[in-house]
Amino acid sequence: MPNITLPDNSVRNFENPISIDEVAKDIGSGLAKATVAGRINGNLVDASEVIDQDCSLEIVTVSDDDGLEIVRHSCAHLLAHALKQLYPKAQMAIGPVIKDGFYYDIKLDKNLSDEDLKAIEARMRKLAKTNYDVIREVVSQKKAIETFKDRNEPYKVNLAEEIPDEEIIALYHHEEYIDMCRGPHVTNMRHLKAFKLTKVSGAYWRGDSKNEMLQRIYGTAWPSSKELDAYLLQQEEAEKRDHRKLGRQLDLFHFQEEAPGMVFWHPKGWSIYSSLKDFIKSKQDEYGYQEINTPQIVDRKLWEASGHWDKYRENMFITEIDEEHANEKRTNALKPMNCPCHVQIFNQGLRSYRDLPIRFSEFGSCHRYEASGTLHGLMRVRGFTQDDGHIFCTEDQIQEETKKFIELLSEIYSVLGFGAFEIKLSTRPEIRAGSDEVWDKAELALENAINNLGLPYEVVEGDGAFYGPKLDFVLIDALGREWQCGTFQADFILPERLDAKFVGSDSERYHPVMIHRAVLGSFERFIGVLIEHYGGALPTWLSPIQAEILNITDKQGEYCEKIADLLKKSGFRAHSDLRNEKITYKIRDHSLQKTPYLLIAGNREMENNTISVRARGGEDLGEMSIDKFIQKLQKVVDEKI
Ligand code: ZN
Repeated sequence: MPNITLPDNSVRNFENPISIDEVAKDIGSGLAKATVAGRINGNLVDASEVIDQDCSLEIVTVSDDDGLEIVRHSCAHLLAHALKQLYPKAQMAIGPVIKDGFYYDIKLDKNLSDEDLKAIEARMRKLAKTNYDVIREVVSQKKAIETFKDRNEPYKVNLAEEIPDEEIIALYHHEEYIDMCRGPHVTNMRHLKAFKLTKVSGAYWRGDSKNEMLQRIYGTAWPSSKELDAYLLQQEEAEKRDHRKLGRQLDLFHFQEEAPGMVFWHPKGWSIYSSLKDFIKSKQDEYGYQEINTPQIVDRKLWEASGHWDKYRENMFITEIDEEHANEKRTNALKPMNCPCHVQIFNQGLRSYRDLPIRFSEFGSCHRYEASGTLHGLMRVRGFTQDDGHIFCTEDQIQEETKKFIELLSEIYSVLGFGAFEIKLSTRPEIRAGSDEVWDKAELALENAINNLGLPYEVVEGDGAFYGPKLDFVLIDALGREWQCGTFQADFILPERLDAKFVGSDSERYHPVMIHRAVLGSFERFIGVLIEHYGGALPTWLSPIQAEILNITDKQGEYCEKIADLLKKSGFRAHSDLRNEKITYKIRDHSLQKTPYLLIAGNREMENNTISVRARGGEDLGEMSIDKFIQKLQKVVDEKI
């Protein structure tokens, strides 16, 4: 009977067919308790699965990613079980796993409140504590449909009807509640301990706005209550740092209905944008980029030639205009990306191999249509500006350009406060353009460059663009969240499509390789990330107001304005608050505005020709002369802190 090979290559022999749960028990009682599921010959299955032939077996616990996913999925079932006890008329739709948790879409005639969520969660806890067994039953499609018809679950009936014939249908019995699922699931409720329902929102059945609106209950689940608490704390912190909230509080930007997904930058927000842009420009100048600027509205002919008209039209804002003296309307598109325009500049005049590499950069304003439901503050917009750049080079130059780009990016990220970032190398996809030799060469060039810099990276097989391999750069923020920002993509296709050529050393004409690259990605999103990373307290060099001068009484009004002028003349962003308010009120107000330095002037300071300086966070730097403060501020700004 079955010989079972375990991950350490030891083999256990059993006389009779045996379930995974029992194998775990045979190995040890600790493991038996922790067993969530198993992997038989690599396939994930329920722990109740019976093994009757030789195989390899891995026991899956909640500390395994798959195990955690199973726990989260089982939590969705538990939620359904509890909900149906409290609201027998509820109709269940789908309950999948998502990042950090799960949700369930339901139809219910009552709008669930936060109090209701608490009650449902309490019922979930009560049910989980009874440690009931979950029973898996494989059924025919007919049986599944009948089961859900009997139970007045029209959405489940609908889902069951669509399951292809060859697929196994499993019903999971949670005592009186029955759900349908591919599985696997926990076999006993004892595994569900650290979970919480987080919120409820609306969602369309099958995500289609033509369908009816359901309620979506979200929850989160973790291996232990310690991890759950850490997650909830992180969420709370993230909420405090939400850039949309801080954007209002700090008066940085707003959005409005007339221009969905497009930013109205207020003076302070635009100041951050400009400081960031100046910094990127100075770095790129250092690295040999030439800044260019290209039109925002371009005739469809160019988009047809580049292939965007065919592949990307749904995301493009298209305009039609009656051109003077022309018989027909002219169709244009707002550029969704800058690449084809950059090739137009490359194509002016004859390029020689001696000119390469050519590095063009553009703070390129682009527009892409994104569904309104996906828009999210600065993080997902329709109008944005990329810190875009294209490098035209030979195949032999890819490696050196990769290295240079990663150096540029590391310097920028480190100044912006992101010491840690991850690199992902995406290799050739199944459907691709270009010969295998070219792919071999390009992938190797990217890989060698990262290796030579001694940086760790992860290979994502098959995830490259159809036109070439790419690197993605993922930032880790102060809350440990990941943000994919930088990108570096080799492209063998666009230069050919748009007929970009250079004369080689043998006087023959060749297509250059085009590298698409961005460090920040878009200014909008990156500023969103920065605001959240710093909780709004941006480094002084990026702060919209670096020093706020506060008078104690009207007498020092003029003196304060004189100081503000002095600071402005020295190149700093200063402002004086002469409101007739108590000094404690003004200090509090500007602390909430996260201003790096508050300069306070009373009679004493005015007589001594000094100011009293308070740093952000409340530190008292004492009384000092204006010159001394200017020196201090200059140093901070020069060092970009
Ligand atoms: Zn591009």
